[in-house]
Formats: sequence, C-alpha cells, structure tokens
Amino acid sequence: MSDRPPPFFVGDHPALDFLNTVATPRDVPVEWLRDGRDLIDWLERAKMIGAGVASRFRTARNHRALDSVAEKAREFREWLRDFVTRHKGKPVSSGAAKALGPLNELLAGDTSYPAVEAAEGDRALRLRRVRRWESPDELLHPIAEAAADLVCRADFRLIRACEGHVCTLLFLDQTKARGRRWCSMAVCGNRAKAAAHRARKSNR
Ligand SMILES: [Zn+2]
Repeated sequence: MSDRPPPFFVGDHPALDFLNTVATPRDVPVEWLRDGRDLIDWLERAKMIGAGVASRFRTARNHRALDSVAEKAREFREWLRDFVTRHKGKPVSSGAAKALGPLNELLAGDTSYPAVEAAEGDRALRLRRVRRWESPDELLHPIAEAAADLVCRADFRLIRACEGHVCTLLFLDQTKARGRRWCSMAVCGNRAKAAAHRARKSNR
C-alpha cells in the first residue's frame, strides 16, 4: 500500500471502515483493496486478523486464490454500499431482511466455532469464537460479521456521508450531540472552513 495514503479508519464502525476502502481523499479515487495482499494489509490494520495470520497468508504461495478473495471482498463491499446508501438516515425496517441474501450467503460459509478459554478480570472463563484460517475465503468472514453487526445493531439514522465536496466517506455519528458532519476535521472539516472563509472574503 506504499503507493497510496494510509486507509481511513474514520467510520466509527468496522463495516463502514470497510466501505471506506475506496475513497477520494484528494480528487482522485483511491482503491485500498486492489489485490489479495492489500486485503491482508487492510484486515491487519483493521485488527480483524492478527499479525501471525496475516504473515501466514502473505507467505502462502497461492496468490491467485488470495486475489480472487479480494475480488469477492470488493463485490461484497459494493453490494453493502448499495444497501447502506439506500437505508442510511432512517431506521431499518424488518422488511430490509429480504435484501440481505448476499450477506447471509457469506455468513453461511463461516467455519468459526465457539471455544471456552481462561479469561482475565472478574471471570475465570470466557466464550470466544475461533477461526481456523485454513482457506483464504475465511478472510471474508470477519468482514461479513462486521456487516451483520452493522445491519442488526447500528442505528441507521446515524449513518452519514461526509459533507465534504467529492468526499465519499461514510461514518456512524457516535458524538453526543449527533452533529458530526465530516469524515475528519483534518481532511474535510478544515477544507470546508477554508472555503467558507475564502467565500466570505470575496463577498466583502
Ligand atoms: Zn470527508
């Protein structure tokens, strides 16, 4: 990913960060999931896979299989973007379940299993989902899980697109005042402020 700026993690939800893996930070669209290698890098940065799993997949011989998983990830991303764009800004109704076929299809392939292990803190044991990481297709499962969490648990009224000119970044507004307008102040907020300042000056 060294030929691109670092990916954005401004969505305040992992599924929105995933949608933000294609964005237009400076007039030109940037794709952060070009191939399998990109997908592994992004999953590691998103903390959806650990460093050990990432390096195992990176050194695997079958690049073509990884690239095809990245292609599936991009397809799923655009399907999810369409769903989110259609439903954002209002509560999701149960009727939306009819449109969730591609998500349920991906979830159906999940091979993770629950395991009981020692915990820290006030509890001695805890239940955790474990993934096998045997096939590259499994890399799609943490993404599907994040998407499922988004559609079931997030308040869609609070999903917004950044108001920045040409910016396409999405986020879940978790601020107390529910008044978030920008992907980030550094990228779009300041740019809008400067533009407003210039407009005021030229009006004088
Ligand atoms: Zn923005």
